[in-house]
Amino acid sequence: MASVARTGQLRQRTKLVQGSVPVPDPVTVMVREIQQNILNMQKQYECPICLELISEPRATDCGHYFCRECIIRHVNVSQKKAPVKCPLCKETVTKRSLVECSGMGDISEAIRQLMDSFQLDTGTMGKLLEP
Ligand SMILES: [Zn+2]
Ligand SMILES: [Zn+2]
Repeated sequence: MASVARTGQLRQRTKLVQGSVPVPDPVTVMVREIQQNILNMQKQYECPICLELISEPRATDCGHYFCRECIIRHVNVSQKKAPVKCPLCKETVTKRSLVECSGMGDISEAIRQLMDSFQLDTGTMGKLLEP
């Protein structure tokens, strides 16, 4: 008798949850859109080695961008098996050919700050970033 009643309750709860899913409130939709835009920007300024926002960007001759630390570590590790190749396109990379891009660093720093303040405001950015 008791188990029958429990099954009935469960069914009712499932129905309620399903019914509430297709109606997202406008604020949630807006927040998601902003979040998506920030993440898209982040993707464009992502370091292919560490997959974080590029810090102190360096450009290679082949036109790819990496964190200063990441690309220098890559060059140092690969140097024994010279020539060092770009992790993305396998063009030759030398430490001397790396070009500093401070303008790009400013942008990625701005995106980082945007993400920080967004997370402070909504508390959701971290959750979305987790796989
Ligand atoms: Zn990096
Ligand atoms: Zn390259």
